[in-house]
Amino acid sequence: MLGEIRGEVRFKEPLSFHTSLRIGGPADIFVVPQDVDDIRHALKFAEREQLPVAVIGGGNNLLVRDRGVRGVVLRLEGCLGRAEYHGEEALAGAGVSLSALIREAAAVNLGGIECLVGIPATIGGALAMNAGTPDGWIGDFVSAVYFLHPDGTIGEFKPSTGSFTYRAFHAPEGAVLVGCRLRLQRRPLADIQKEIRQRLKQKKSTQPLALASAGCVWKNPPGDAAARLVEKCGLKGKRLNGAEISTKHANFIVNRGGATAADILALMDLTRERVHAHFGVTLEPEIRLLGE
Ligand SMILES: Cc1cc2nc3c(=O)[nH]c(=O)nc-3n(C[C@H](O)[C@H](O)[C@H](O)COP(=O)(O)OP(=O)(O)OC[C@H]3O[C@@H](n4cnc5c(N)ncnc54)[C@H](O)[C@@H]3O)c2cc1C
Repeated sequence: MLGEIRGEVRFKEPLSFHTSLRIGGPADIFVVPQDVDDIRHALKFAEREQLPVAVIGGGNNLLVRDRGVRGVVLRLEGCLGRAEYHGEEALAGAGVSLSALIREAAAVNLGGIECLVGIPATIGGALAMNAGTPDGWIGDFVSAVYFLHPDGTIGEFKPSTGSFTYRAFHAPEGAVLVGCRLRLQRRPLADIQKEIRQRLKQKKSTQPLALASAGCVWKNPPGDAAARLVEKCGLKGKRLNGAEISTKHANFIVNRGGATAADILALMDLTRERVHAHFGVTLEPEIRLLGE
């Protein structure tokens, strides 16, 4: 069945090559599918061999543990990478880059989703995480999500209230997201470009974009900002080997070179304990952990 896959199949592929943190042990079987049929073959193979399946997009929100991931890892970045624009709507594959979609839509005078500018993501990863900013999240614009059930059949999901919540999409269990429809708005290109420039400038001035990270480590607790709590505990700049709580944004942990997942996890444990001791707040991770 793996032989039927037309995309790439690699064994013991280091996931540090596929995460923005540049950390992560090997995936036993790493598949970059070429199309939906390839995904089906990989799912069937995993089912027959009783192997777990993990789906990743751009790896921008992932902490993969040092011993890697058992079973099959499906990487959708670079697959299902087309978007079409009809009227005021985009139909996008799960592997489309979010920033490319925003740029392409702008070129045909479609906007409305500028609040998502600067979030490194595939559409699949953005949907799964309900990626966003205080000004809006992707779920606000989604009219339909297309996915593969574990048995390979295609499903359509029409989101309703509660389908998308803070950094979560309540998709059907085991679904591999393959695309979505997004509602856009007619807007002049010049206005969109102006807003994009402003938002990117703001991001650059507040986030450590030059260093490897996975974005915000913690979800903001209700009514507060995790970065504020971490900073008040005096943890900004705290370092463990190559891992550091960013001096620029206390909710980021950066890899200054050679950091392991164990280093990041140790800094996370320390942060969780200190914030709990000072404020009685238990921080919840926003980044997704994978592997062993
Ligand atoms: C510098 C930086 C800044 C960031 N800023 C923001 C920000 O402002 N706002 C924000 O929300 N996030 C931010 N992030 C985090 C990250 O960009 C988002 O979470 C993004 O949505 C991750 O997309 P991805 O394709 O890289 O997903 P991945 O990291 O590869 O995966 C994330 C999760 O989605 C699941 N997933 C991915 N694709 C699929 C699929 N096709 N089907 C089913 N499940 C899937 C994975 O299993 C995993 O659980 C930032 C990250 C970085 C590095």
